[in-house]
Amino acid sequence: MTETIAPSTVANVITADYTIVIQNLTKRYPGRREAALDNLNLSIPSSQILGLIGANGAGKTTLLKIIATLISSSGGDVLVNNVSVRKKPQEVRRLIGYLPDDFGLYEEMRVGEYLEYFAACYGIQGKARSRLVNELLQLVDLGDRRKESLRGLSRGMKQRLGLARCLVNDPQILLLDEPANGLDPRARIELRELLRELSRMGKTIVLSSNILVDMNECCDTLAVLAGGKLTAHGPVSQISSQGESQKNRSVSIRVINQADLAKAYEAARAFPPVVEDSIEVDQAGLRLELTLVGDEPTCAALLSHLIASGVPIVHFGQTAARLEEIFLES
Ligand code: ATP
Repeated sequence: MTETIAPSTVANVITADYTIVIQNLTKRYPGRREAALDNLNLSIPSSQILGLIGANGAGKTTLLKIIATLISSSGGDVLVNNVSVRKKPQEVRRLIGYLPDDFGLYEEMRVGEYLEYFAACYGIQGKARSRLVNELLQLVDLGDRRKESLRGLSRGMKQRLGLARCLVNDPQILLLDEPANGLDPRARIELRELLRELSRMGKTIVLSSNILVDMNECCDTLAVLAGGKLTAHGPVSQISSQGESQKNRSVSIRVINQADLAKAYEAARAFPPVVEDSIEVDQAGLRLELTLVGDEPTCAALLSHLIASGVPIVHFGQTAARLEEIFLES
């Protein structure tokens, strides 16, 4: 006997392992020719940290706001735990904690009061509220600052308090817009550790940033946005190695004398992976600086080519372009 599966069951099977499923999502702002999001498809597994990276204007904030149900899409949909942001925004809101990039704090309040206030907004009363506030303050390492005024907190502390505020209703999903923005290196490390802790607690976290170092060390997967389109998506190691192998390398070559410098210049120009306009000659330093499109074996081939052209090389150095240069070109 053949068993038929009801359409709703099929949808559940397809999205079961994903907390957020973004389907053909498009956003056009009135008066704008270019779409801010252009037919975006992306699935975010449960309990993972996804880093959304992209240059200014790539569409990161727009995407987070649509998932958070703060603005509506022009086409497509997002399913959060199989619930459509278009059809049931109220239901989705209960699952989500959203930290905007410019969230405001009531500076005249004290740390504990601030969380008490938000807990009260969610209808949490009495002892349960005190217990929750204590737990959250411990979690974000502000337990000993409970009575301090928000005005006196460092930026990193304010960011951690903002995160605690997002956790008041115990959402399964956290959407964080540029949470590391403006933090010093130590505060960024603390934030990273906190996010990893929240991930271990089972939260699914989507955060945007254009500081890739942070993303590399904190995220499980990366999604790269450019002009509202998804240009790369995968595990951090895969995206990083993709960048390493695909793009430009800076090469520095030093020779013994002016005659060899001229020879090296001609030989480099005749090697196609070298970007011709990029060759810079440092006469005094007997050095060539150039850009080469390719990977390490391409660099090795350039070195062999120079030697075969009769150029004695004193120094040959190469560095890969940084991920920022690869992915965040606007
Ligand atoms: P940033 O890193 O600068 O915050 P982003 O990647 O978050 O950038 P968005 O803020 O989502 O990008 O903007 C995507 C595009 O949509 C940009 O071209 C932006 O100018 C445009 N945009 C964003 N909000 C609006 C709006 N309210 N009205 C019109 N255009 C908008």
